[in-house]
Amino acid sequence: MNPYGILVLATLLVTFFVKFAADLLNLGAASPDIPEPFRGVYESEAYRRSQEYLRANTRFSLIDASVDLVLLLAFWFAGGFNLLDQSIRALGYGTVATGVLFTGALLLLQSVVGLPFSIYRTFVLEERFGFNKTTPGVFAADLLKSFVLAVVLGTPVLGLIIWFFENGGPLAWLWAWAGVTLFSLLLQYVAPSLIMPMFNKFVPLEDGELKTAITRYAASVRFPLAGIYVIDGSKRSSKANAFFTGFGRNKRIALFDTLIANHTVEELVAVLAHEIGHFRKKHILISMVLSMLNLGIVFFLLSLFMNNRQMFDAFFMQQTSVYGSLLFFMLLYSPVEFILAILLQMLSRRHEFEADRFAVTTFPGGRALSDALKKLSRSNLSNLTPHPFYVFLNYSHPPVLQRILRIEAESARTQS
Ligand SMILES: [Zn+2]
Repeated sequence: MNPYGILVLATLLVTFFVKFAADLLNLGAASPDIPEPFRGVYESEAYRRSQEYLRANTRFSLIDASVDLVLLLAFWFAGGFNLLDQSIRALGYGTVATGVLFTGALLLLQSVVGLPFSIYRTFVLEERFGFNKTTPGVFAADLLKSFVLAVVLGTPVLGLIIWFFENGGPLAWLWAWAGVTLFSLLLQYVAPSLIMPMFNKFVPLEDGELKTAITRYAASVRFPLAGIYVIDGSKRSSKANAFFTGFGRNKRIALFDTLIANHTVEELVAVLAHEIGHFRKKHILISMVLSMLNLGIVFFLLSLFMNNRQMFDAFFMQQTSVYGSLLFFMLLYSPVEFILAILLQMLSRRHEFEADRFAVTTFPGGRALSDALKKLSRSNLSNLTPHPFYVFLNYSHPPVLQRILRIEAESARTQS
């Protein structure tokens, strides 16, 4: 094995064991006592169930991750990449088509392996804790739609990248970057009106107390509300959520029907104020710019490793190719990606605090946000006492307890 192979293998093993250690710490941090702000909200039965949910989820993810790792290593060391490459090359298509087929076949293989896990998670694990509302029909339709979307959207993007690196000369990475960035901007622009409605019904929020309260709040912070929609989240799960999608004139706020059903008007406006906070504090723009920058760096570094013979040797490949370089470089880049993901999550947790603060300071009923979070964590059986190391690795949101304490302190300060 050469240094490239050793680096990839070491990364796979180290990240696996670091995550495993974080899981164990996280399980160990589960405390038998309900944290103070939750007393009176969580019955001890619900609290016990939330810990049971945590254990079941951790065990399941661990098995899933182990199987993925073992299969990847087996495929790699059995020469699977080369075997696949040779059999697709034998079909005699051009490099772009061969590359799309090679990558598509690997992705398909990955989702076939993941399918039993996804079925188990939805119909056994989530079902046992009363979350699952997905019927086998909805599940199958989702699968089919995602597959068609992946083919329709993935083929041109991948084809374009391969074509640029084949024909673009020394600046190919720049062309590929510009092309993919344009494509993803376009995609994010049309997603709320074209793609998401394939999976969920978006119904404009009806006139009434809630809409009046939301409109009044939005006007008070001079936020142009393009559309407030209710989506049928209850079609798949009883878990509740709210989110922002799209940008420019196409932006929408979506509230899950499950959220509306269980919260007061004041709580819902507070949740919305938090979402508007993300927008106002430019969090959405910042994340978009950062991911574009990351993509540019990836393409530039990829261009340095293009057709690197040693990198292909590490995966037992007979022939080099642009599409092979793309795949193996991503594996080589994974330690950087691992660290970047941690940094991005740190930023995201900071943004969550900022959006909470925005909600509390701009909405007189902002304190209701903490009531909403308490209710949400009870109905979603959230872990109230995650281990700090686990949070550091995995959490895009701060632990709910920290958020509640800050919201309550902040709103006490604004009111005085
Ligand atoms: Zn948020």
